[in-house]
Amino acid sequence: MKKLLIGAIVLAALAVGGLAALQIPALQDRLIEAAIRSRMDESDRAPLFADDALRLLVCGSSSPLPAPDRARPCLAVIAAGRFYVVDTGPGSWNRLALLRIPGQRIGGVLLTHFHSDHIGDLGEFNLQTWVAGRGAPLKVWGPAGVERVVAGFNESYALDAGYRTAHHGAALLPPADGMMEAHPLALATDGSAQVAFTDGDLTVRVFPVTHTPIEPAVGYRFDYKGRSLVISGDTVKDAHLIEAARGADLLAHEAQNNDIVARMHDAASALDRPRLQKVLVDIPSYHTSPVEAAEVANAAGVPLLLMYHLTPPPPNRIAESVFLRGVAAVRKGGVVLARDGTLIELPLDGGRAKISILRP
Ligand SMILES: [Zn+2]
Ligand SMILES: [Zn+2]
Repeated sequence: MKKLLIGAIVLAALAVGGLAALQIPALQDRLIEAAIRSRMDESDRAPLFADDALRLLVCGSSSPLPAPDRARPCLAVIAAGRFYVVDTGPGSWNRLALLRIPGQRIGGVLLTHFHSDHIGDLGEFNLQTWVAGRGAPLKVWGPAGVERVVAGFNESYALDAGYRTAHHGAALLPPADGMMEAHPLALATDGSAQVAFTDGDLTVRVFPVTHTPIEPAVGYRFDYKGRSLVISGDTVKDAHLIEAARGADLLAHEAQNNDIVARMHDAASALDRPRLQKVLVDIPSYHTSPVEAAEVANAAGVPLLLMYHLTPPPPNRIAESVFLRGVAAVRKGGVVLARDGTLIELPLDGGRAKISILRP
């Protein structure tokens, strides 16, 4: 008993001493310097860009609904030493920056459609990757309408770009490199996937999806050295998407749990919030449920399904379990619920997909 008491006293003294030590300026300075260095160091990210896998990094897993730890839709596809960003939802640049992804390695942005939850951070991606040393205008691919979105962001950031060059000099920030270039993509009338562009061994295809009344809305397929992944964008369960995803290794599909949305509708009704009620009545018509997303992956024969653009974004394990109710009945395994930082690696040697969470 006496030993226990002494142990407790020693522990308490150490705790108090530790707290007191944290008030010593020299120790505080050491801690601050170490934190600054670890936030700025991108060297440990080099393996992400090694030419040994096709990778998908979730930079935004949420939907328009707010979530404390999730940005709005954003997926970064990493191949051939660069990353391509599919959608730039609000908060997604911040997520990539926290994950210390080197901005200068950006190959371009691909937009699936122009809902605000998919384009909100476009200006930030452009500005921040320019400052990081991109060295050329930022290419932005998308369906018809992308010219207007890009022109609008270029204009709204024009004053800021001027300030940056005036402050840091044209040698560091040449004005011409700070612009975005729109690359509108034509869609096949039969809905088949068409080549959008190539980058060495990387081929990116675009296909239409169904997000009525939003037209056009598209998804993308990435093929690189024998591995492939498909991104749905916002859509209902869609036949063109199933065709485009055939034979792919990974399907990243949006998911909205309409049972939970119905409960949100009831709550909005009870709280006398009719405008919110109306929105919650409308949204099931143009999204895909988790069970339907599983059916799409099954129909396309895709071994790994990543659900993202989660509506509503599950805040904990219980909510995740409710979100996925019914999925196990249609698909045995091969389902991942995205979080910000989820990283899926498809090795180029044909090995199994590796799933992890990239931490800041
Ligand atoms: Zn949408
Ligand atoms: Zn959306």
